[in-house]
Amino acid sequence: MQTGLIIKNISNQYTVYFNQETHIAVAMGKLRLGKRPLVGDHVRLEFTDNKWVIQEVLERKNALNRPLVANVDQALIVMSAKEPDFSYRLVDRLIFLVSYEGIEPIIVLNKTDLINQDEIDKIVSEYESSGYKVYATSRKTQDVSFTEVFEDKITVLAGQSGVGKSSLINRIDQTFELQTQEISKVLGRGKHTTRHNELHQIAGGWVADTPGFSSLDFKHLDPVSFANSVPDFEEYWPSCRFRDCLHQSEPGCAVKKALENKEISQIRYDHYIETLALIKEESHD
Ligand code: GDP
Ligand code: ZN
Repeated sequence: MQTGLIIKNISNQYTVYFNQETHIAVAMGKLRLGKRPLVGDHVRLEFTDNKWVIQEVLERKNALNRPLVANVDQALIVMSAKEPDFSYRLVDRLIFLVSYEGIEPIIVLNKTDLINQDEIDKIVSEYESSGYKVYATSRKTQDVSFTEVFEDKITVLAGQSGVGKSSLINRIDQTFELQTQEISKVLGRGKHTTRHNELHQIAGGWVADTPGFSSLDFKHLDPVSFANSVPDFEEYWPSCRFRDCLHQSEPGCAVKKALENKEISQIRYDHYIETLALIKEESHD
């Protein structure tokens, strides 16, 4: 038996990476009916009848819908300092969505050449002091420290169009083509675009070629799970008096207490309350 990582899938043809090489494989019939193998899955294969056959999908820790990728370790939330303007609200909403899916959010402040050092420091410290990994970068900086972020991880990119996601990846690997909205516009309607959900090897890790979390849709979120998935609250919510505490105005709320003690960022908390209202509103539709 051989184990490998699925990095590409077109109908029943899978590209699986093992022994430092890609191999073409097919999935056994019973797998196609049940737990269909996804890009990002670790699988067991056997070489029979002159071909590699996927026998088993190993346990997945998560699976994203768009892009359809399993076992995503982290999402790089890319936000430009300017053009478009930096938005704490947008970054926080992306943090919330990413964390809800069990994926680690990593903040990338891009186009730092367009603002001054004080402004950069303010943004970086807002997120670093809350325990997030933050990278400040631009096409004018040498991204040596930045590339380490990819090592041994499966990464998706997130962030609105124009923030520099493609440029960022291209600075590390010139052959990488991120499938952006711009490309689908050029090719016409959605049905003509081929989205093959491929993982590309970059700086010792794997990156999906389609950005994720492009719609800020909170409809499907469960309020209590949401309340307990915000990374800023992680240390505190297990001490809340009620198990289904939404950290609004419940008695004995450890999150509110931490906020009063300035241990939790007021900005993030405000955005949390705002987003919670969106979830509740949308679940009544
Ligand atoms: P994407 O839509 O997020 O993939 O963004 P792109 O990579 O296509 O970049 C959008 C625009 O921002 C392009 O015109 C880039 O030239 C510009 N851009 C990208 N990175 C930087 C940067 O570090 N500094 C500045 N000033 N502009 C940048
Ligand atoms: Zn609480």
